Amino acid sequence: MYILMKAARLYGKTDIGIDDEVDPGSVGPTDVRIDVEACGICGSDLHEYREPEFTPEHEHPRTGASRPVIIGHEFSGTVSELGKDVSRFIVGDHVAVHPNIPCHDCVYCADGEYNHCDNSLGIGFETDSGGFAESAVVPEQQVHALPDGVELWEGALVEPLAVGLHAVRRSGMQAGDSVAVFGCGPIGLTAVQAARRAGAKEIFASEPNDSRRGIARQLGADVALDPFADDVVETITDATEGGVDAAFEFAGIGPAFNSAIRSTRRGGSITVGSISKDEITTDVDELVLNERTVTGTFCYGFPPSSFRTEFDAIIEAIADGHIETDTFVTDRIPLENIVEDGYDALLDPDTEHVKILVEP
Ligand SMILES: [Zn+2]
Ligand SMILES: [Zn+2]
Repeated sequence: MYILMKAARLYGKTDIGIDDEVDPGSVGPTDVRIDVEACGICGSDLHEYREPEFTPEHEHPRTGASRPVIIGHEFSGTVSELGKDVSRFIVGDHVAVHPNIPCHDCVYCADGEYNHCDNSLGIGFETDSGGFAESAVVPEQQVHALPDGVELWEGALVEPLAVGLHAVRRSGMQAGDSVAVFGCGPIGLTAVQAARRAGAKEIFASEPNDSRRGIARQLGADVALDPFADDVVETITDATEGGVDAAFEFAGIGPAFNSAIRSTRRGGSITVGSISKDEITTDVDELVLNERTVTGTFCYGFPPSSFRTEFDAIIEAIADGHIETDTFVTDRIPLENIVEDGYDALLDPDTEHVKILVEP
């Protein structure tokens, strides 16, 4: 393929270029080219924009990529070119991309724990391809087929939705349990939905942003509280006679972490999925004397295990109409407007957005 393409590339701190003449890359024997339909802007994209950390400044030792790199990792599209050894796809297939490539060579990969891989590579960060582009070249093993019941754009939501499902699985939450979710940004909202689907009896959401509280209710929260106006711990412990069975923390700040602990019943679990470098102070007795368990959760299963676990489970749930996808998407924008209508809109502290889809 010799035609150059349009792509959004990260050059450095708060510097994204919309470039018209980008090399679309060549398809290796086990790669597929995907004409991108939609790519979501993720919290990790915003982090990388403000403080570049994963996109390589100098040539990446394994991929050769260096800034400017094509960004975007939550994407779906149509297969348009196949490597000679690709067997699972044909041109025209609708697909979603799993953006984390495990190495198959470390102790974790040897144990089948691909999501704990020591050397995984992120598409849209460390490779030469990403979803904020007209097309992307990715290894066949990263590609999940979308069945007829899934709209092509919905494929871009599989990745964030899988994060919420993984969090609920990590928590050990059971059908009939009461649940509280602290922080209802995009990922907290996927946890609300996943907990609802997993049979939560009652879901409390705590979120300062008014419109996100409204969306939490639409996606399955029974009670949505404002941590700056309501006594969240008291409200939850009163309503549940001592606290919820499972709390989730996606806010990444001390007060939310501690409220999550104190809103949980004795013997309950607190699952933490916020990404934060902040040190948080907590009252250890709250954990010890109440036998509460704190668990970390990150991403989801990686391929090849993702084909039997979270990614395909989400794809089937969307196909069966069990997941509300429209409510989750608050805007769709062309690639040209990715900075003003995408990144800047999401970084506004009063944002009314949840997931913005870029349509290259
Ligand atoms: Zn993401
Ligand atoms: Zn590995």
